[in-house]
Amino acid sequence: MAAASSSLVDCFSRSYREAREKFLAAASRCNLAVASEINPAGLGVDGEPLATDAVEVGPSSAESVLVLTSGTHGVEGFCGSACQIALLRDDILRRRLDECGVAVLLVHALNPWGFSHSARTNEDGIDLNRNFLDFPVEASGPDGYAVLHPLLVPDHWPPSDANEAELQRRLDAGGLPMRQAMVGGQGSHPDGLFYSGAGPSWSNRTIRALLRRHGTHRKRLAWIDLHSGLGPSGHGEKIFGSTMWGPEATARALAWYGRDLVRSSSPRSVTPHTQGYIGMSAPRECPQAEYTFMTLEFGTVPFDEATRALRGEIWLRSHPDAASDLRQSIRTAVRRSFYVEEDFWKGQVLGQFRSVALQAVHGLSTLA
Ligand SMILES: [Zn+2]
Repeated sequence: MAAASSSLVDCFSRSYREAREKFLAAASRCNLAVASEINPAGLGVDGEPLATDAVEVGPSSAESVLVLTSGTHGVEGFCGSACQIALLRDDILRRRLDECGVAVLLVHALNPWGFSHSARTNEDGIDLNRNFLDFPVEASGPDGYAVLHPLLVPDHWPPSDANEAELQRRLDAGGLPMRQAMVGGQGSHPDGLFYSGAGPSWSNRTIRALLRRHGTHRKRLAWIDLHSGLGPSGHGEKIFGSTMWGPEATARALAWYGRDLVRSSSPRSVTPHTQGYIGMSAPRECPQAEYTFMTLEFGTVPFDEATRALRGEIWLRSHPDAASDLRQSIRTAVRRSFYVEEDFWKGQVLGQFRSVALQAVHGLSTLA
């Protein structure tokens, strides 16, 4: 069994390039056809092409499909990619798909630029999980984010003690609404955090096309979008947007995933309410399907540490001439905030992922 545990850890990769190679090799071993979309933003940090790769596993005639996406937030692909590779290498789980009559669409590295460059945002500084809006979006009045922007992205990095103290003071004084304004998505500052963009990004268009290709002929569609960064280290929080999807879908998700499903409207959720998140796209592209969307978020480091890393990432975009050691330290901080390179964490991730994937497959199955 020692070989089994080391091969599980081997599902994780040290770079986007390695992750893609492992994903393609695992798909090839299963004789799966891969559809690759090349991102036109250029090459990755290792000179590699940047691509989103998709494969469908399970019976092609299935009336139900489970969509599994990784790397919506670039660097978080280290976590999600490993889950997908583990599924492809898991002969028992894949046999279960045939037994249950469920297909699985694996979409690897939806934001390959961010994955390769250790960034949460994409090639245009967009937070992909805020980009699924009806463009153009009219500004609805003063933007709460604008107040915080100069403090979040100061002129110099690392920020001064005075900057940190003032930011903390503003956040404390503003309470939950101010934190919501900070992270919920904003369209006013392209050089800021959680920027929603001014139109559909390349990744947005890519996932929509994949949904049409694999979802429009299905009766049921479930989607698990894999993330890392929020919550206690190694804990996989099952997040469900109950206010968005209504009571029927909420009851269905609770029946599938269990009582530890966390509604995003709940104060105990690790995630804030966000505008334009990726799950909004499926009902538009596959309106015929009964739809169940969930975010699976694996915890890494404390929230403030992750936020500081993101501030550095965004600062770096406006300072391309930053010294190479500063640039490297910012990239490293982002990577460490969204990917815990310890075997124990990796084991927690894959164990919980397998359980949740099976819950979704059984939920989608029409078998009694
Ligand atoms: Zn994320």
